[in-house]
Amino acid sequence: MMTEPLADDFGREETGALSDDFGREVTGVRISLTDRCNFDCIYCHNEGLGDTRGPMEPEDDEMTADEVVRFLEVVEEYGVRKAKFTGGEPMLRGDLEEIVRRTPDSMETSLTTNGTFLPGRAEALREAGLERVNVSQDALDPEAFAEITKSGAYDRVLEGVDAALDAGLDPVKLNMVVFEHTAGYVEDMVYHVAENEGLQLQLIEYMPELTGRPEWSIDIQRVHDWLADIADRIEHREMHDRKRYFVNGGMIEIVDPVENEEFCANCGRVRVTHEGYLKGCLNRNDDLRPMGEMSREEIREAYEETVANRVPYYGEYLKKNGSGEYEINERYIEAPKSTTSD
Ligand code: SAM
Repeated sequence: MMTEPLADDFGREETGALSDDFGREVTGVRISLTDRCNFDCIYCHNEGLGDTRGPMEPEDDEMTADEVVRFLEVVEEYGVRKAKFTGGEPMLRGDLEEIVRRTPDSMETSLTTNGTFLPGRAEALREAGLERVNVSQDALDPEAFAEITKSGAYDRVLEGVDAALDAGLDPVKLNMVVFEHTAGYVEDMVYHVAENEGLQLQLIEYMPELTGRPEWSIDIQRVHDWLADIADRIEHREMHDRKRYFVNGGMIEIVDPVENEEFCANCGRVRVTHEGYLKGCLNRNDDLRPMGEMSREEIREAYEETVANRVPYYGEYLKKNGSGEYEINERYIEAPKSTTSD
């Protein structure tokens, strides 16, 4: 028998979610289904795992559909209520529809995709239970798009967005990474979503942490200020401390995690790599935890350990020094191994 979730003193549902030592409940998982991608975006962090270039054929190291579903069933026991599928390009997986269909009913199921495979598949994904989709679209200009993504598939992406809307995956969130190469297209994108019903825009601050090109960053505060000037209304979401601006009926959200301690303090996600490693933080690769053969018991053990060891990246793993610069908190620097034999 299913038990009804309880409400706490603040009226929030108690889902039984695990919390880390910083009081952050984990209610969502972000699962990378593959490392492969048909694009080669110049800014791509690939969920912190490096280059996506390589063969497009399915690889042996990817979790099987059974493993992904087993993982989801286990974390459902821990109160996880959101599953987002990502990659690489998750739609390169032919069994994505099956995975979505077998995702526990208690979870909100969403997808982040470059959109090129949505035509012909959006309907089936919707029928399988997909609730929301984010499509990466970094510019409205085909040439800029090709330069950023190293792909000529601009028209196909627009078709993909239409296919998602036609399938009822409404609203479709367009993800745009804001950095040197795209800053000039932000205004067009803002008015594009305002003029097209069913679209929302998510402006993602470029994260240089994993790509090593800090010179591409732009000051995201300038975008906040500009939007605040032209917005009819502004909302503040608790999730990740995000701001939402409403412009001419269009909704624009800014996701600005870089050096944002409040963002990290509000992070409630654990990530899973395509090979089945748990990852407590996008920005770190020193906290990967294998789930062994992915038996339920092994998943439980690794998941509990991962949550217990989660640490906010800005504000705890990295702390500001006397000159105001972030550096690794000594607590997380491994003591050098002794070279002398005893
Ligand atoms: N292939 C899919 C796609 O294009 O959306 C999913 C994978 S992609 C890694 C997931 C998201 O990460 C995309 O919205 C992308 O824009 C964002 N992203 C990748 N690298 C980034 C970076 N350096 N800074 C900020 N966002 C980034």
